[in-house]
Amino acid sequence: MNPWIAKAVVLAATVVMMAIRAPHGRRSRRVKVIKSHKTPLEAVLLILAWVGFFVPLVWIASPLFSFAEYPLRRGPLILGVMCFVIGLWLFYRSHADLGPNWSMTLEIREQHRLITQGVYRRIRHPMSSSLLLYAVAHALVIPNWVAGPSNLVAFAVLFTLRVRPEERMMLEQFGDEYTAYMARTERLVPGVW
Ligand code: SAH
Repeated sequence: MNPWIAKAVVLAATVVMMAIRAPHGRRSRRVKVIKSHKTPLEAVLLILAWVGFFVPLVWIASPLFSFAEYPLRRGPLILGVMCFVIGLWLFYRSHADLGPNWSMTLEIREQHRLITQGVYRRIRHPMSSSLLLYAVAHALVIPNWVAGPSNLVAFAVLFTLRVRPEERMMLEQFGDEYTAYMARTERLVPGVW
């Protein structure tokens, strides 16, 4: 199949993702941060996330990774599009449910409330689940050994190093309320982990 089909799919998903995030990014600049847990590690992780996000765009726009190309197949493409659709829906819902409590990094905002409803009812990190689906979609849709897995590698490093500090911060802020929330929820996949 023509790799431009995959390029069009990745580009469309990127535009949708940016459109979902944009209003939340603008609003978050207006909500006061009362406690920041932004460590140097956190800053490095954010840079890594941006690299993982941009490598597929470099693949679309330039021949830089052409040495790692392989043929595009219908099966992985269809599966990848399904992961994009579900991932982007979950990305949208998790932003809507977190509302003004959302931050790009580890922060407690003014009047921060613990959200335990909507997509946060059964799992504690649905936005991360959405990013995992989005990264799996890239790996399936992009027929390139470098650009395909780039997002997945960035996600794995980011999530592994961030999930404990984030949960520690939430425990510090919300105490027993978060302990009880942890006891009845999983991290990423309902009923699994
Ligand atoms: N890890 C979560 C949230 C990512 S956004 C997810 O993957 O869905 C990161 C910010 O969201 C953190 O800085 C924290 O302040 C906030 N946050 C995380 N879980 C929250 C919750 N259940 N309720 C309110 N705010 C939360």
